[in-house]
Amino acid sequence: MDCLFCKIIAGDIPSTKVYEDDLCLAFRDINPQAPTHILVIPKAHISGCNGVTEENSGVVAHIFAVIPGIANAEGLTGGYRVVSNCGPDAGQTVPHLHFHILGGRQLNLDMA
Ligand code: AMP
Ligand code: ZN
Repeated sequence: MDCLFCKIIAGDIPSTKVYEDDLCLAFRDINPQAPTHILVIPKAHISGCNGVTEENSGVVAHIFAVIPGIANAEGLTGGYRVVSNCGPDAGQTVPHLHFHILGGRQLNLDMA
């Protein structure tokens, strides 16, 4: 499948991994928007939030269960933001479900 993040999972495109298990991979965003900017993705291809179903949503719960440990390892004691962009209006550029972890500075409160 011609999917950038599937290629990262396969190791065909390099990434800076910060966490990996059987279900998900976390790596540093190539264009960081904050001192810490990590992407967490399921290893199984899901197109985005719109691709989440009752059948595959377990991996979403799993990702949210590993995020606190990633944030702790990054030293994000002041907090952090988790974001998933879905579709063009939200600016989704990679059609493989991903959760941005942003932190390390006071984040803009404007969610738009
Ligand atoms: P989104 O715009 O929400 O779809 O997020 C996609 C993110 O993937 C952006 O923040 C990009 O900077 C990031 N990105 C694109 N290519 C790579 C790559 N090869 N390695 C790491 N992050 C990437
Ligand atoms: Zn994919």
